[in-house]
Amino acid sequence: MHSREYEPVICFETHVELKTKSKLFCNCAVTHKARPNTQICPVCTGQPGALPVLNKKAVEYAVRAGLALNCAINTRSRFARKNYFYPDLPKGYQISQYELPFCEDGYLEITGDDGRPYTVGIKRIHLEEDAGKLVHSASSFEESEYSLVDYNRSSVPLLEIVTDHERNPLRSVREAKAYLEKLRQVLKYIDISDCVIERGQFRCDVNVSVRPKGSSHFGNRAEIKNMASFKFITDALQYEIQRQVELIESGKEVPQETRLFDETKKITLPMRTKEDAPDYRYFPDPDLVEVELEPGFIESIEKTMPELPDQRVRRVIDAYGISKSDALILTKDRNVINFFETCASTCSNPKKLCNWIIKDLFKLLNDASLTIESSPVAAEDFSRLVNLISRGEITEHMARAILEEMFVTGEGPEAVIERKGLKPIKDAERLEEILGEVVSDNPDIVSQIKAGDTKPLNYLMGQVMKRTGGRADPRTVRKLLAEKIKS
Ligand SMILES: [Zn+2]
Repeated sequence: MHSREYEPVICFETHVELKTKSKLFCNCAVTHKARPNTQICPVCTGQPGALPVLNKKAVEYAVRAGLALNCAINTRSRFARKNYFYPDLPKGYQISQYELPFCEDGYLEITGDDGRPYTVGIKRIHLEEDAGKLVHSASSFEESEYSLVDYNRSSVPLLEIVTDHERNPLRSVREAKAYLEKLRQVLKYIDISDCVIERGQFRCDVNVSVRPKGSSHFGNRAEIKNMASFKFITDALQYEIQRQVELIESGKEVPQETRLFDETKKITLPMRTKEDAPDYRYFPDPDLVEVELEPGFIESIEKTMPELPDQRVRRVIDAYGISKSDALILTKDRNVINFFETCASTCSNPKKLCNWIIKDLFKLLNDASLTIESSPVAAEDFSRLVNLISRGEITEHMARAILEEMFVTGEGPEAVIERKGLKPIKDAERLEEILGEVVSDNPDIVSQIKAGDTKPLNYLMGQVMKRTGGRADPRTVRKLLAEKIKS
């Protein structure tokens, strides 16, 4: 038990790889598929005398992010050199931004720990270039005999999004996770990055300090570098908060330092004392002129801003009459809500459509490890399947079997029904015949029902369904059976 209650102050510097066609300062392609060192030129390998030329699309994406995150867009902006040495950084400096980033003073709304909206302060958003990639000969650097360097990633555009530690910082591990999920969702909605975590397209440096609850003073913080999994980030935060509280409780000071997360032991370890801005000797890059954004440029981006997640949740609730919890599930991934809306344009029952996506289609996709973009079932076919259920032409039970078949073959529902002979038995005479058989085969049960015990009716229903291969409409069967027994 601690004598006092503590609260963490958590900040993120998130690096997001932009999905531009070419790199930030040259025409080399941005791709994860090419062979090492094939997408390089004198500019991105830092040859003397090669001059950078700014990629306009990357600036447009930075502004789009700034608008989505409620930032002020600086009409004057500047690139700076961040000096340090590393083998994957051929110039000996990284082109980044220091003073005058593209965007400042924004916020992102998440659901806070109290269940109410909480606007997390965004301090700044700036553009910078990525470094190359070191490939070690063994799984760890220490065991490696040699390391190779691939410059394909060198100068790929990154957006760095920095939260504000003074203005509404994150106050718990849960809020930290909610922030990362929401940020990733927004960036995918505005279509500036694929944010694939496994490819390093969305990675974070995490800062954390603790202080007595209610205090306005900040404790010394530890920085954990290069975290590329939400699970590792939450594990590292949990460990680090506990470690700092224990240090303070035992009267020791928390050193300001950079730490590494050990993924197997789930602990953080000291790496080095944290470097400050002066260590990098930032200065304006003399090869690049100051960027001036014309108001028309910002306005044109504003006009073409895609719908954001929160707006979309509100609109789909209004437009389709679905519940908020369903709307939140569907809008989590932009491709899912796009699929839903494509189906809904030809579907008579949006609520049923929603249920069938969330329960049945998701299950099939999960089992096959597929995303909705690669779903073998086309939106139009899925919509027709739901219409068939809504019109009572097939039972839910049959629809499930039909969907499974559609998922395997990619056929439409009608084709599956035809091929599998799953046409529902509507023919009254045919049904009548089967009902007659079931009733005469089970005289004891029939007399039981006649005597007033209606429970065994379900047994007879089951017999009918069995003999029709589940193709009879249960409501019709129940009604007909009841009539038959009475007579
Ligand atoms: Zn290049």
